[in-house]
Amino acid sequence: MKRLLAAPLLALISGGGAAADEPLRELPYSPVLDTRSMDTSADACSDFYQYACGGWIGRNPIPSDQAAWSVYAKMSDDNAHFLWGILDGLAAKTAVRSPTQQQIGDFFAACMDETAVNGLGMNPIRPSLDSIENMKSIAELPPILSHLHMSTGDGGLFFEFGSNQDFADSSQIIAFAGAGGLGLPDRDYYTKKDDKSATIRREYKAHVARMFVLLGDTEPQAKSEADTVMRMELALAKASLTRVEQRDPHKLFHKVDARGLQALTPTFDWSAYLHESGVGSLNSFNVTEPAFYTAFDALLRGESLADVKTYLRWHLVHASAPYLSTPFVEETFQFFRKTLRGVPELKPRWKRCVGLVDADLGEALGREFVLRAFGPAVKQRALQMTLQIEQAMQDDLEHLTWMTPATKRNALAKLHGIANKIGYPETWRDYSSVQIRRDDFLGNVQRATLFESRRQLAKIGKPLDRNEWAMTPPTVNAYYDPQMNDINFPAGVLQPPIYDLKMDDAPNYGDTGGTIGHELTHGFDDEGRQFDARGNLHDWWTKGDAAEFSKRVQCVIDQYAAYTIVDDIKINSKLTQGEDIADLGGLVLAWVAWKAQTHEAEPAPRQGFTPEQRFFIGYAQWACESERPAQLRVHALTDPHSPGKYRVNGVVANMPEFAKAFSCKAGQPMVNPKPCRVW
Ligand SMILES: [Zn+2]
Repeated sequence: MKRLLAAPLLALISGGGAAADEPLRELPYSPVLDTRSMDTSADACSDFYQYACGGWIGRNPIPSDQAAWSVYAKMSDDNAHFLWGILDGLAAKTAVRSPTQQQIGDFFAACMDETAVNGLGMNPIRPSLDSIENMKSIAELPPILSHLHMSTGDGGLFFEFGSNQDFADSSQIIAFAGAGGLGLPDRDYYTKKDDKSATIRREYKAHVARMFVLLGDTEPQAKSEADTVMRMELALAKASLTRVEQRDPHKLFHKVDARGLQALTPTFDWSAYLHESGVGSLNSFNVTEPAFYTAFDALLRGESLADVKTYLRWHLVHASAPYLSTPFVEETFQFFRKTLRGVPELKPRWKRCVGLVDADLGEALGREFVLRAFGPAVKQRALQMTLQIEQAMQDDLEHLTWMTPATKRNALAKLHGIANKIGYPETWRDYSSVQIRRDDFLGNVQRATLFESRRQLAKIGKPLDRNEWAMTPPTVNAYYDPQMNDINFPAGVLQPPIYDLKMDDAPNYGDTGGTIGHELTHGFDDEGRQFDARGNLHDWWTKGDAAEFSKRVQCVIDQYAAYTIVDDIKINSKLTQGEDIADLGGLVLAWVAWKAQTHEAEPAPRQGFTPEQRFFIGYAQWACESERPAQLRVHALTDPHSPGKYRVNGVVANMPEFAKAFSCKAGQPMVNPKPCRVW
């Protein structure tokens, strides 16, 4: 179940092929400020991103198994190689292993045994296919759908069902019924009228048909089945909210009791669904998108039993494809990676398997990562930096001229309520009940998924666990959670070149300091500001202050709307506003914190740059990246973050401190004539 997280720092397109393709025994080092990554022939005041990242982009072409490549993706790839080394060791039957190490080692071994997986073909999903085939009427759908949801964890099967904190009372966990049911990455793919979107829909249908052929259907049959899938998904897409609409939490909050839920979908028996899910007595639900459920019910009434079966078969095989034999893996790659994102090659098997251990037994693997790659000194320093940046935010709020004292009091309470989580969870998840076998890859995935589905539902009605993390420790990313009111920095992101204790403060405050400020600011962006200190959806702003806030945000929206992503596609800055505000506010706060704690009277330039210049170059160098043109199109529709170039240039252009550091003059591109500033 998707949580309502402020989008993580970036949408990761993880893994990659730049490092040598062998397991790593230790993580490689590169500095937080790398002059080789720069292009000093470019003018810092004309295009600072090119100046700070031009060298990196030139020396780091996108690997053939990647849709995009970036400093973060490269770190994530290094981590994957390092985890590969760990898992390779633990996969050996002869190794001395704790029970948990045995689980992740055997999971990895089963995944790596491609011969065994290929020998099974589609057999592992036959029981589920049979249960779909044996349905006698649509009335039998609820328990079958529950079983498919619990064992695949896939929201592509009509809808998503799970648990989350109640928006109105964050201390309570209630059931959430969300929208879903699509195969393409966003509802807009189904509704957009342009030629490129029509081509993607055509290619998608051809892919769906080929998957039915792999399941044994004839080609004409498969073609008509693909039409059925498209017709049903289109109906669900039309009834789904856009990503911009989903930024308003009020649009996603509709609490009903069991009777109210049933009234939404007369054709779908919720008591049968909930009973099969093991939560038959629930009586409090948030239906995030009621109109979607109305459309779902209409679909069940309007479609034949045979067509509903066709839809279920497609989504089952789609969700299971990564765990089946090569033809299923290859066909899925061809459409979802090659056609949709322009990626030439499939990721090597080891990389896919490392990713699956991380996804399915993530804290068991994360514990091994932390033991080897994350010491208490880093944790301590990162916490200290976080506290300094929170102090900078407090000073900023106290001196803000546009906010009245009543709202300020609430803002400060919210700031003081934020929990700082650094590195890894205080207690590790216990996976001991998950049976892992060396000869049953798909079974392992299903049992691990079932464990997670049950764990999510078991939270309902229990006290909230504030120590829980939504990312695994090796993840190279960070997030703010408005309902937990916490900021989270996994061990994987507190590593060089992002966080580098071998170097001076300036680039570290620009880079990781900027990230900490970014996550903190999310608590006060267009979405986060609607939640209070306790994580409840509750308006704590006076009308006048809210209007002043919106005026400042509009400046950012207008600024980013002018930037081009690819061809004629501009940034959808209503979608990216939260991230753009966080980037700007984050760097401003990091600057203030850095200046407040640095005591060198006249610090000497290093590597040829003043400390102020180093702060900004350090900031820019986290964002160096390249994306394939096809991937840029997916990015434009689905990613709430602006491309790296504008996450750098858009921010520095608003900071007079930058213009001063690089002696930029009014009228130059990196000097916004009317600078935006929210925090
Ligand atoms: Zn963010």
